[in-house]
Amino acid sequence: MIYLDYQATTPLAPEAREAMLQWLDGTDGGGFGNPHSPHRMGRQARAAIEVARDQVAALFPPGGSIVFTGSATEAINLAIRGSGAGGTVAVSAIEHAAVLDTAGAIGPCHRLKVDGKGVCDPDQALPADTRLICVMQVNNEIGTIQPAGRWHGRAQDAGALYLCDAVQAYGKLLLADADLITISAHKFHGPKGVGALWIRDGVKLTAQMTGGGQEAGIRSGTLSPALVAGMGAAAAVAAQRMDDDRAHVERLWKAARRLMADWDLNGSEMDRWHGNLNLRREGLDVNRLMNDCREVMFSAGSACASGSGRTSHVLAAIGLTTREAKNSIRLGFGRYTTMVQIEEAARLLNEGAEAQGV
Ligand code: PLP
Repeated sequence: MIYLDYQATTPLAPEAREAMLQWLDGTDGGGFGNPHSPHRMGRQARAAIEVARDQVAALFPPGGSIVFTGSATEAINLAIRGSGAGGTVAVSAIEHAAVLDTAGAIGPCHRLKVDGKGVCDPDQALPADTRLICVMQVNNEIGTIQPAGRWHGRAQDAGALYLCDAVQAYGKLLLADADLITISAHKFHGPKGVGALWIRDGVKLTAQMTGGGQEAGIRSGTLSPALVAGMGAAAAVAAQRMDDDRAHVERLWKAARRLMADWDLNGSEMDRWHGNLNLRREGLDVNRLMNDCREVMFSAGSACASGSGRTSHVLAAIGLTTREAKNSIRLGFGRYTTMVQIEEAARLLNEGAEAQGV
């Protein structure tokens, strides 16, 4: 089996697995204590969470603090809903549904345009009452890298806050400055079920859940030491390997582009995380390709979220027709993908497309 769906989720790093085990049942010197209990077992679990907090914080800009959540979706909800009421929330047209649907649900929402390459230009007009701007750092469908630093400056000039959804950037690229940043552990080789919201010092948020007042009163609920420790270990490995991971991804990208030269690329070639290859081929039946290439785990480019049934708003935003979107696939690769896997996947996908006569 060849796993090429790194934007959906990534394989767990062995270091993250190791860090988690001792907090599951108390063997191997860890414990099952509640990290919010004042006794010794509670304090041990708390200490593990604080170690992880420092590990995760090391990849954020200076001058902020972290709230752990159950997912990036929860972190995004907390950021958008908790950062105020009234005024317009301006969102790029290619945000994840967690941003688009949340901003759309709470009040006036302005869509920021992206160009044909999938980049959202900070020089475009904003409604005068904009209170929050949401532009992600790396897009999950086409991998395009947004001018996030410039968007932060734009937000400051407009007297608005800037939320950067860095789910697909954290651990891969240096993060841009922002007021609020969201991440998810399972996208950088950590476990599923834990995310975080980074909050710039001085930015005030209203809690969205009532309860025990954990995480400085911002996010009630008992934290899972195992999940948080796994996230911390994954962050530490990412920090250590960032340059090597990137060089590895560049080698795979070059090979994949060469081997799949007959396919058209969706989104910018250069302003892009090269672990994302969103390709299309005129007339391609993606369902048939998936059926014929069952050994390769990849995603239909037209599906904006697996199982959602919605067609991709991202491919529509960059100007593709519905038909072109339906002719598209997304390949995602990274740290644990080998060159042999890329070569084999390219062979299978090319053969599958050629068998369709496209
Ligand atoms: N934002 C982006 C860009 C994503 O790719 C995803 C997951 O696909 C999310 C947010 C939501 O993350 P989570 O699975 O942690 O809720």
